[in-house]
Amino acid sequence: MDDEAELDRALESAHLPALLAAMVHITGDAGWVKSEWTPAYVPLSRGETGLAPEVQAEIRAKAKTVIQAYLADRVVKTPSPEGATLRAMMDFVGGMPVPEEYADFLTDELAISGKSSKDPQFEQPTLQAAARKLKVLVIGAGMSGLLTGIRLSQAGVDFEIVESNPDVGGTWLVNTYPGCRVDNSNHMYSYSFEPNHGWPQHFSPQPELLKYFQGVAAKYDLKKRIRFETRVESLTWDEAGSVWRVALKGNDGRAETVEVNAVVTAVGQLNTPRIPQIEGVGTFEGRAFHSAEWRHDVDLTGKRVAVIGTGASAYQFVPEIAPKVATLKVFQRTPPWGLPVPHYHEDVPEGMKWLLDHVPYYDKWYRFWLFWTTTEGFLPMVKADEGWNGPPTAVGAANLELREMAAAALAAQVTERPDLLPNVVPTYPLGGKRAVLDNGVWLGALKRPNVELITQAIVKVTPKGVVTADGVEHEVDVLIYGTGFTASKFLSGLKVTGRGGRELHDVWAGDARAYLGMTSPGFPNFFMIYGPNTNIVVNGSIIFFSECSVRYIVGALRLLAETGAKAIEVKTAVHDDFNIRVDEANKGWAWGSAGVSSWYKNEFGRVSQNWPFGLIDYWRATLAPNWDDFVLTKQPEPVA
Ligand code: NAP
Repeated sequence: MDDEAELDRALESAHLPALLAAMVHITGDAGWVKSEWTPAYVPLSRGETGLAPEVQAEIRAKAKTVIQAYLADRVVKTPSPEGATLRAMMDFVGGMPVPEEYADFLTDELAISGKSSKDPQFEQPTLQAAARKLKVLVIGAGMSGLLTGIRLSQAGVDFEIVESNPDVGGTWLVNTYPGCRVDNSNHMYSYSFEPNHGWPQHFSPQPELLKYFQGVAAKYDLKKRIRFETRVESLTWDEAGSVWRVALKGNDGRAETVEVNAVVTAVGQLNTPRIPQIEGVGTFEGRAFHSAEWRHDVDLTGKRVAVIGTGASAYQFVPEIAPKVATLKVFQRTPPWGLPVPHYHEDVPEGMKWLLDHVPYYDKWYRFWLFWTTTEGFLPMVKADEGWNGPPTAVGAANLELREMAAAALAAQVTERPDLLPNVVPTYPLGGKRAVLDNGVWLGALKRPNVELITQAIVKVTPKGVVTADGVEHEVDVLIYGTGFTASKFLSGLKVTGRGGRELHDVWAGDARAYLGMTSPGFPNFFMIYGPNTNIVVNGSIIFFSECSVRYIVGALRLLAETGAKAIEVKTAVHDDFNIRVDEANKGWAWGSAGVSSWYKNEFGRVSQNWPFGLIDYWRATLAPNWDDFVLTKQPEPVA
């Protein structure tokens, strides 16, 4: 950047805590993260610091001189600060003293040396040779499947990915409804090792996400390892050969069976649309479709439209379609909690992109700030206080405070429509269901004269529309289901037959469980990503979870390669004990509270989706498989 004025503009959009941390790297002077400049801790913000304008101006002016010098000489004095300096930088950027137990976890997440515990560790030639003999089948080429492919290539393990769609991207390929976008900050919702400095928005629209994953697939040359438009119909463990026999069926009807040493499922949790069991569903004579199967050929202009559901998907598409339809009836059973995020639809300023690209370590610290303030730092706000005897609309004091803040933000948006107020402020605790990001467009849509929020229960669907409990038949031309997914039916449609001919779905009996979300006793060399109890409600990006899971799975393959064992299988006691702890811990959070029903709970009322501990706990638990947790089986020697 030659133009000084341009640098000034870039600095105007700088995230100051990240900028100051970057200055420590470049200058080698830890004085940049001094206590007077410590930013306020403001989760969900753009990074407002609470610093006086003149202090901010002083920081920018000083940083400008350093950046200009750096652009001239490209010298970074302290690429890898350690010890007290690194800790001070974390506390500073985090806006609070980060507890000591987080230091190694956050250092790994920061990966300022460029190395991470998530990189496959297959250095020794003997290990590499053994790894090359393994063949792995990965099911799904979405975010987790691509990640698995990348890590397996890096480890030198042979693999193939099977994908039912014609392209990569998973949920970001399939969900194309109007307004679809990521609701996690994009600079964190990306692989830790593949930052994208060019995200156009803080929470970019779906086509940008798809482009990112397609770009990563191209960069790592993964497409040649993917069998598209093919389904895995069944997996059968062959005891004698210690292999999985995998039955594949192409969309063209062609069937094939392949044998592999291990299988990784990367099929997501939110991929089977859920159409509610309402009387008359299917009799509607107009056009009807689910949000995840959006019919772009159905022109909604001037139509009478009904939307069932007000979850995260409807929350995004209702404001998009409301201006073009004649009338819109939104059928709400439970309102969503919105968290005020004014920059939800905002562009990332060009100056910010420039800083991410050109100022060394600025990107790392910006991600660190997002990671801390929106993940572990945020979690205490949805924790249930033991013996809580406050209102049942919250689960603890911090949760009540968060609720009051969010409720006030909702109320402030409907002052001119007080009739809406009782129907848009949820009565369940915040964090009970997935909270959505509120920049005003949702309630803006509900306030439109052509939009009606209907809270009467739906009793049936008729050929003409929807009948509610008050007996009114709401006639519409188009019916859109924003009714979510059959999330707790893990691996539905996939028959998995393990040791002794036992089928996974019989074992689960509708109540899917796994050890660390990944492994099940009786199913050797079978790993799930985003399996039972690995979802997060308010704290962070699911990509973090997938990265941890893949590290662990690659670690399990390493165990096979190292020991020459043919099969690795989690011990029943380890699996069962883990699940007892998970169930107990889930009760301690807003999403586990008794009065809340959501897709996080299965038909038995058990929270089958969510991880009830901190991210740090998943990170620690998945650093590497613990030998003691598994039975490793050697193949019997052939009889001479
Ligand atoms: P969802 O959150 O499960 O919402 C389904 C909606 O349909 C709820 O409002 C539900 O009401 C309602 N519903 C279900 N059956 C009904 C019935 N019989 N009568 C009336 N209403 C009914 O589904 P989703 O919106 O598709 O979102 C699912 C998940 O996908 C989210 O939680 C999120 O994790 C993910 N997602 C992410 C993004 C993103 O990152 N941008 C976007 C969309 C979705 P109740 O609440 O009363 O059950």
